[in-house]
Amino acid sequence: MDHFLYRDGALYAEDVPIADIAAAVGTPFYVYSTATLKRHFTLFDEALAWGDHLVCFAMKSLSNQAVLKILADQGAGMDVVSIGEYLRAKAAGVPGDRIVFSGVGKTADEMRQALQGGIRQFNVESEPEMIMLDQVAQSLGKVAPITVRVNPDVDAKTHAKIATGKSENKFGIPISRAREVYAMAAKLPGLKVIGIDVHIGSQLTELAPFEAAYAKVAELTEQLRADGHEITRLDLGGGLGIPYTRSNDAPPLPTDYGKMVQRAVGHLGCEIEIEPGRLIAGNAGLLVSKVIYVKSGEDREFLIIDGAMNDLIRPAMYEAWHDIVPVVEPAPGDVPAKYDIVGPICESGDTFAKAREMPAVAADDLIAFRSAGAYGAVMASEYNSRPLIPEVLVNGDQFAVIRARPTYEEMIARDTLPAWLSTPDNSESPAD
Ligand SMILES: *Cc1c(COP(=O)(O)O)cnc(C)c1O
Repeated sequence: MDHFLYRDGALYAEDVPIADIAAAVGTPFYVYSTATLKRHFTLFDEALAWGDHLVCFAMKSLSNQAVLKILADQGAGMDVVSIGEYLRAKAAGVPGDRIVFSGVGKTADEMRQALQGGIRQFNVESEPEMIMLDQVAQSLGKVAPITVRVNPDVDAKTHAKIATGKSENKFGIPISRAREVYAMAAKLPGLKVIGIDVHIGSQLTELAPFEAAYAKVAELTEQLRADGHEITRLDLGGGLGIPYTRSNDAPPLPTDYGKMVQRAVGHLGCEIEIEPGRLIAGNAGLLVSKVIYVKSGEDREFLIIDGAMNDLIRPAMYEAWHDIVPVVEPAPGDVPAKYDIVGPICESGDTFAKAREMPAVAADDLIAFRSAGAYGAVMASEYNSRPLIPEVLVNGDQFAVIRARPTYEEMIARDTLPAWLSTPDNSESPAD
C-alpha cells in the first residue's frame, strides 16, 4: 500500500491532489509521501525488534535532506557511499555515530573528513583500502571502526547491473580469503575490527539468496571469533525488492525478511545493521509529467511527454518497468489505448515503455510514474540542457518544494568562459 490513491476521480498524494501540485510547480516533478517513508522505515525497524539493531537508509536511493530528516527523526541511521552523501546527512542533522560509510573507492580525503566529523563505521572493501584507512586514522591520532565487506559469491537473481555479490563483481573481498584479511586488519593499529558487512545486490525478489549469504556470514562470524576477533556487529546490506507493478507477485515483506535474519544470524548475539534504500523510498515517490503530443506513427501511437530519460533513467539503464497512470481517474469501461511512451530527448533510448496498455490520454493531460522515489531524482542529469526537475514533499494536506527547479539562467550561468575566450576581441589571427 502507498499513499498515492484516486479520490473522487483524481490522483492524490496523501491529502493533496496531484493536479494542485502541478499547477503550483509545473511539470515534470517528483513528489514524495511522508507517511509512506515513515511507514516503510517502521516496517524494517519492527521486523528487527527481536534484537539490537539499526536501520541505515541507503541514501544513494533518495538523498534530499527533507527525506533524510524525516527518517532520522524516526531513528534511522544512514548508509553513505561518498563524502558528499556524508556531508548531506550531516546537514540534515544525522549524527556521525549513525552514519555508515560504504563504497569501493573511498579516497584518503573522504576518510579524513569522515573520521574528523565522526563515523559509526567504515565498511572496507579491499586490502589497499584497509592500508589507506589505517594510515589516515593514525595520522589523525584516531582509530577507525571497521567491518570488512565480504563477497559471498551468491547469485542475487536480479538485473546484472544491480547484482553485487558474485565473485565477478567489483565489490568486497572473496569470503574464502576473509580470515586472512581480518588477520591483517587486526595488526593495523589505526583500525578496530568490529564486524562483517555483506550486500549482494538490489531489487531482490526472493529471500533465498539473502539467506544463503547470511548463512555464510554466520559461519564466518564463528570462524573469526575462534581466530580471536571480536565480532559484535553484522551489517547485512540492503536489496529487498519492491513491487513495480500491481499485477505480478509481490516480493517478500520486511517482516518475513526480519524473521529470516533472526533465523540466519540471531543466535550470534550481534547488533544487526541493514541498509535498505529502494524499499523505503521507491514506492514513496511519483514522477509526474504532462503529455505534450500524441503522435501517430506508422504502426503505433507515441505518447510524447515532458519528462525524459534525464529525469528518470531507470527504464533506459535497467529496462525498468514503472506503472504509468493518468492523474484523472479513467471511467469504468473506458477502452484502454496502447502507446510507446517517450520523452523529448534526442536518443531512441529515451523511451519509458513500449506498446504500453493504459487508459487513453490526450495532450496536456497529466500522467504519473509510480514507484519512482528510489533511484529517480538522485540519478537525474541536465542532459539536453534540461534543468533538474523539482522535488516536492507532501505531509497530510500540506506540500512544499524541497528542491526547486533551477531557472535556465541559473543552469547556464554555471559555465564559465576561460579568459582567452571571454575577451571581446579574440578575432586577431595568431602572430606570424
Ligand atoms: C545500493 C546499496 C544499498 C541499497 O540497496 P537497495 O536495493 O536500494 O536496498 C545498500 N548497501 C549498499 C552497500 C549499496 O551499495
